[in-house]
Amino acid sequence: MALEGFVPYSREAASLYMKRRWWLGITLGDLFDKACDLYPNKEALVGASKRYTFAALRREVDKLAGALLAHGLKPGDRVLLQLPNWPEFVISYFALQKAGLVVVLLTVDHTAREIAHLARLTSPRGWILPRRYRKTDCVPLIGQVRAENPALETVILAGEGLDDCLDLDALIEEGGRLEDLGLMLEEVRPDPGDVCQILPSGGTTGLPKGAPRTHNDYICNVEYKSKAWDMNVTDVCLVATTVGHNLALLVCVTAAVFHGAKIVMLDSTYPEDFCRTVQEEEVTCTGLVPTLASRIANFEKLGDFDLESLQKVYVGAAKSFPELVQKVESNLGGLYFHAFGMVEGPCCQTRPLDPFEVRAQTIGRPICPYDEFRTLDLQGRPTPRGTEGELAAKGPGVFTGYFRNPQANLSAFTPDGWFRTGDLAVIDEDGNIRITGRIKDIIIRGGENIAAEEVEELISSHPGVEYVAVVGMPDPDFGEAICAFIKPVSGARLCEADIIEHLRQTGASKIFQPKRFEFINEIPLTAAGKADKKVLRQAVMERTRDAEQKQ
Ligand code: AMP
Repeated sequence: MALEGFVPYSREAASLYMKRRWWLGITLGDLFDKACDLYPNKEALVGASKRYTFAALRREVDKLAGALLAHGLKPGDRVLLQLPNWPEFVISYFALQKAGLVVVLLTVDHTAREIAHLARLTSPRGWILPRRYRKTDCVPLIGQVRAENPALETVILAGEGLDDCLDLDALIEEGGRLEDLGLMLEEVRPDPGDVCQILPSGGTTGLPKGAPRTHNDYICNVEYKSKAWDMNVTDVCLVATTVGHNLALLVCVTAAVFHGAKIVMLDSTYPEDFCRTVQEEEVTCTGLVPTLASRIANFEKLGDFDLESLQKVYVGAAKSFPELVQKVESNLGGLYFHAFGMVEGPCCQTRPLDPFEVRAQTIGRPICPYDEFRTLDLQGRPTPRGTEGELAAKGPGVFTGYFRNPQANLSAFTPDGWFRTGDLAVIDEDGNIRITGRIKDIIIRGGENIAAEEVEELISSHPGVEYVAVVGMPDPDFGEAICAFIKPVSGARLCEADIIEHLRQTGASKIFQPKRFEFINEIPLTAAGKADKKVLRQAVMERTRDAEQKQ
């Protein structure tokens, strides 16, 4: 069933991908059922106080899928899924897939403004969210979003029900009383070419766009991503980053189910909780963002825990610096998988046998041998190997256009269908890709373009820096100047002069020297776990304005 607002694959591309089995021709529901058929008695999912075998998990998933349909949701309807790292996320995600509903993936950190925007964009009929999350009562949010979206009839709360909202547990129980559940689900099984989910783009500017993904092209990511970091049935995968972000969903949840591996959900980003869970559950692999990897690798009590079981540490979603790769490997013990991923589908990653330089300096190679990557110049022409250009991709794992957004699609693709990532990269002779900056993330100082990431890389090589994010700030002399927000490692005392001296020692050009420094305890992050540069730009604008007024 074609979803209005989705750009379909061309007939030729789709038939090639199917013929060659680059698309497996199964749905996410099928993928889940296969794992349950293969390993019914094997432990599949662990949460803070709940444990499920694949057979037990399937019962919950099927009951919920049936109940969602019984409550009037129809295949193809969009449903906002906004749950934290609880087992209920996994149950709900696969139930929605089996019922043929389209998941709109949200994180618990999405703001009311972002949710309202995504609801306007996707016109959902359902929403699954917690009644309360930590100190936040989610009920006022429901009222706000519902007022603007009268079609949003079915709101389901994890934790407890409410007058006009359903209770998730009660709904699952209700599903258990349905007759012919198997037949009911068989009838709504979607076509693998249908849209299975809409993923908000994690851009750091503007409101998110929606990337619709089909079962076929998403499973293409799942299959090759999981193979690139050697996931297998014996793995125990710790989900420590927000599960409502594609990194955790793709690399941990769906990849683990694809291989029949075990998923452990952790609803905490405290290094102590991470280490305790690795020890108790004998975790073998985990997916992290660089900020979290750095926090854990710098945790002063690492030695109190037995982390022997941890073999693979996947780090993606933002740039990893060589110092971090080194620190994670020596302090945590697992092999670092330096990865690049986008909700739109392009994915690259280093492999187990890559030497340290490749793991430290590059994002490795495309995960899928059938996805093509190239670099483009400003006119959209391919640049030679070894030279910088905008990274572009196309293939069976790459999406075809933003949801209901023809305007954005015009600039996001070249006329011959290459998706422009907006990232600057160099592809070397071995096919390894180095991200050198972001087209959108530059500071223009006196006409000189400075890639923010280049300055971040220089500053982060100082041993006292845990995390750094640089942004442009208005400057009367140069138009723009660099402001560096720096989070020192715990216990380190840093000042401007230390960083300036460090930059001098590295031989960095003077243009990379920030004009302003802000030493802060926490860098604000986007829902996707990256430095929130919008917030940082705003903060520096306000601070410079205040300083001017005081003068
Ligand atoms: P999202 O789709 O929200 O995951 O954001 C994708 C963007 O994150 C990419 O276009 C890159 O700008 C950035 N990104 C992801 N992984 C990396 C990486 N390993 N190095 C640098 N940037 C990355």
